Amino acid sequence: MSNDRPSPGIDDLAPCAPRPAVDPALEGKPLGATPWSAPTAPPERHGVVTQAAPDDKAAIAQQICDVMRIMYQQEMVVANDGNVSARLPNGNIMITASGVLKGFMTPDQVIECDAKGNALDGRRVTTEIKMHVAAYEERPDIRAVVHAHPIYAVAFSLAGISLAECVIPEIIVTMGTIPTAPYATPGTYDLPDQLGPFLSKGDAVIMERHGVVCVGTDLFDAFKKMEMVEHTAKITHAARTMGTVKPIAPPGVKELLESRKTLGIYTKNNLCEGCGAREVCAAPLYPAT
Ligand SMILES: [Zn+2]
Repeated sequence: MSNDRPSPGIDDLAPCAPRPAVDPALEGKPLGATPWSAPTAPPERHGVVTQAAPDDKAAIAQQICDVMRIMYQQEMVVANDGNVSARLPNGNIMITASGVLKGFMTPDQVIECDAKGNALDGRRVTTEIKMHVAAYEERPDIRAVVHAHPIYAVAFSLAGISLAECVIPEIIVTMGTIPTAPYATPGTYDLPDQLGPFLSKGDAVIMERHGVVCVGTDLFDAFKKMEMVEHTAKITHAARTMGTVKPIAPPGVKELLESRKTLGIYTKNNLCEGCGAREVCAAPLYPAT
C-alpha cells in the first residue's frame, strides 16, 4: 500500500499541457513493480473461524471478517454494505468499521465499542451501529447481529411481497416466519425503533427497501439465519415464476410447530401467532405487534 510518490495536485498540471496516456516513468515496467500499482490485497483466506470463545477478541475479529467475506462472495453485500457485530461478556460490542470494503476486511478494521455504540479508540463506527445496539438491548440472550443486503430478500420487499407465509417447513420449524419491517430511513433512529418489536419475537427480519437483520447466539448462528432467509427468498422467487405458491394448511403448520418439542428447538419466533389460532400464516407484510 505504500506510495512514497505524492499524487500530483491540481496546481502541478499546466492548463493545456498535453498529458501522456501513460506515465513515461512506468513505460515497460511490469504491473505491480511501481508505486502506482493497486494496493496490496489482503492475504487470501479460505478458512473460517467457526468457533470463538466469547471473550477471545482476536478470534471474534477474524470471525467478523470471515462472515463478511462469505456474505460478499454470496452477493449478500457489495462495496461498503452491511455490518456484523458480536457482543462480549462485558457488554461491549465488536463491530465492522465504517467505510471499509466488507469483502476484503482485515481484523484491524473491527472496532470495539461500549454497549451504547461509542468506539473505545475514537474511530468511526458504522452509522448502522444504532441498529445493533437496539438489537442487543431488545435481546439480552443474543451475542451476534448480522446485517446484509441480500438481493432476493430485498427484492421481495421492493415488490411488496411478504415472505411471512408458511410455505417452507424447515423455516416454520426453525425460524417460524420471516417478517418485513416497514421502511425507515437507514442510519436514523426510526430504523432501530422499527426493528425492536420484530426482534423481540423473531431472529430474522427483512427491512423494507434496505436489507436483512439476523441475530444469534454467536456470529455463525446469526449468519446461518441470513443464509436461510436469502435461500427461502430464492426458492420462493423460483416457485413464483413457475406458478402459484400455496401456504401449508393449518394442521400441517401445527404439526411442524409441535415437532419443535421433539427436535429440542427453542425459538423466540412467535409471529405466526399474530394471525390467530395458528391459521395458515398468511401474515400481513407488517404484522401487528
Ligand atoms: Zn444496511
